[in-house]
Amino acid sequence: MPAHFKFACADCGRVSAALPASAFQCPHCGSEWLEARYDYATLGPHWPGLVALRSKDIWRYKELLPLENADNAVRLGEGGTPLVTAANLGLMLGRPNLFIKDERQGPTGSFKDRQAALAVSVMKENGLTQAVVASTGNVAISYAAYCARAGIKLYAFLTSLVPPEKMRECALYGAQVIKVTATYDRAKELAAQFATQRGMYFDRGLRSIAAVESMKTIAYETAEQLARRIGTKPTPTGQTPWRAPDWYIQAVSGGLGPVGAMKGFSELKAMGLIDKVPALAVIQAEGCAPMVTAFKRNLDQPEVVTNPRTHIATLATGNPGRGYALLRAGLRAHGGTMESVSDEEAYRAVHVMAKMEGISMEPAAGVAFAGLIKLARAGVIGAEDVVVVNCSGHTFPIQNEILGEGWARDVELPEPAAEPSPTPVLAAQPHEGLLAALQRLDERVRSIVIVDDNPDAARLIRRILQAKGSYDIQQAGDGRAGLALIHAQHPDLVVLDLMMPEMDGFAVLDALRADDATADIPVIVVTAKLLTPAERERLNGQIEALLQKGSFMDDELLADVLGALT
Ligand SMILES: *Cc1c(COP(=O)(O)O)cnc(C)c1O
Ligand SMILES: [Zn+2]
Repeated sequence: MPAHFKFACADCGRVSAALPASAFQCPHCGSEWLEARYDYATLGPHWPGLVALRSKDIWRYKELLPLENADNAVRLGEGGTPLVTAANLGLMLGRPNLFIKDERQGPTGSFKDRQAALAVSVMKENGLTQAVVASTGNVAISYAAYCARAGIKLYAFLTSLVPPEKMRECALYGAQVIKVTATYDRAKELAAQFATQRGMYFDRGLRSIAAVESMKTIAYETAEQLARRIGTKPTPTGQTPWRAPDWYIQAVSGGLGPVGAMKGFSELKAMGLIDKVPALAVIQAEGCAPMVTAFKRNLDQPEVVTNPRTHIATLATGNPGRGYALLRAGLRAHGGTMESVSDEEAYRAVHVMAKMEGISMEPAAGVAFAGLIKLARAGVIGAEDVVVVNCSGHTFPIQNEILGEGWARDVELPEPAAEPSPTPVLAAQPHEGLLAALQRLDERVRSIVIVDDNPDAARLIRRILQAKGSYDIQQAGDGRAGLALIHAQHPDLVVLDLMMPEMDGFAVLDALRADDATADIPVIVVTAKLLTPAERERLNGQIEALLQKGSFMDDELLADVLGALT
């Protein structure tokens, strides 16, 4: 049976049918840039129905993956990750159609599991017993796990920047870890030499057919999931069965993920399953942003970084080579942009996502969210755009820089009294020492009243406040109840919505200021309304700050809160 895929050479354009997927050179011109092609036309409109009946992993798309025999698949539950809403972040940014592709839920905690699953399966199909990878961390972990399962000996070249916990995880799976004290680019060169000398298979990242093909499954899953979540879009020729987002956002190192995802979306469009290929946002860490700097200068080649200055080792590819040109061409064809963020912005995004959405991610993934925040604030991403962010990896390990000092509170209990407690029941009662210790923490608690008729907005403000300090927060859902609560509580601060039925925020403010008991309580106004000059005048001198809903971020709100409290 002939294979269901062929290889087209990106340089000479000729097509080869008889190459194994582990091949890496065009037999005609020797180019290392081969691209898998499938018989899209015969799959036709029946494919989505076929796919829907299968298990939720990457293999449900097997007709568009370069593995000849599905029995060779090395499986650990790769792919099929959830597409979760980011309602709170969406509310903060005024972007209601925000989705997270939760790649943390792969077998080893990153989206490299798609790559390792397919690449190692292809190795197995081709009878390989040894392989070499170079990695900024997650590729090595994932390949180590899949190689362990397939009985393939893996040599993993890692730069010494990779956190030791990640290196130990590779070693645990039985991979031979080679720690290279140099940049990732140098480690890659060394790995390639080692593989050549020993005649071993070397995984070439972007030039590895299986690696690129595996990342298409992010696009397939996203399009399938989005159609279920928000429906499909009418087109001149009718409804497409699946749905493309307006944006795909990813933190980028070598660019394998977005190159693969773009190929996936393009195939779906060619098959008539979606109406367009999404715009792509490539986000890099400022200390190693060869693609972003070149893009902004409109250069054809990446601005190679020989000495990366970022703590985010996962993203420290200084020379992305052809990956840049491929992504730039994709951007030109379908729209999008490239942007960089600082390590600090990425850490802050990690915090925000953990505290606002309950999603803890590694700093590399935080880079994508920091990029999203930046692009939303700049208006590059529109208010109604459907946005999918790749949450590319989990927080193992929690890098020290993220939390900094003071992430735990110490509570010291005095030694228990010398005589033993008479009964176990009594011993379990809280004694003086614990209460006294809690009292000391409580001294810092300040009281705040939130008056807002939109429960989502009130919840968000509460969460932001709670994430940042131990405040006593009370809440009222309309103006009259708010006023009563403020009189009863006499809080240190009021956070007030303007647009409320019956008694609106202006009326609440007037009532507060007219009463000696409440005249001095500071008020921060949070509103979704664009104020008229007359309304602004009415607030002038009466409030501490005016914040626009949908455009405020936690740090801005907090700075105003703290300013008002001190
Ligand atoms: C590899 C990796 C990236 C970068 O992905 P590329 O597509 O290879 O540029 C981003 N985040 C995490 C967690 C990764 O493991
Ligand atoms: Zn060729």
